[in-house]
Amino acid sequence: MGKKTSKLVRRYWGYLLLAVAVLLLFGFDVGPLVLSSVFLLCFVWLLFRAPTSCGAANRDGTTCRNNSYGLLGGCSFRQHKWQRFRALTRLDTARNAFRGWFSGPQQQVATLGLFVATFGTIASALK
Ligand SMILES: [Zn+2]
Repeated sequence: MGKKTSKLVRRYWGYLLLAVAVLLLFGFDVGPLVLSSVFLLCFVWLLFRAPTSCGAANRDGTTCRNNSYGLLGGCSFRQHKWQRFRALTRLDTARNAFRGWFSGPQQQVATLGLFVATFGTIASALK
């Protein structure tokens, strides 16, 4: 693997793992415990480590585009981190939180991955 490839793998390994987990779910007979653990690991990675953009709303109504980690994280502005966190705990801002989760291509992929990981965890537990 080239230097560039390994850097990509380090950044996006959660997606690779998710792809492997989906293959395992449909193609191979591994124990439900192993499978649900793999999906759960992806789930946690997406929430806290996946490369995303911040997505918090700025005061002027635009959306913050700074890099951040995970769907639950904001960028380096403390106020944005707080905003992302608060949005999850208050129903009246659910629409804002939701918008934040789909605010850019990276967010959209990560949110989609989260659905797959959730589905996978449940499916493998029921298998
Ligand atoms: Zn921000």
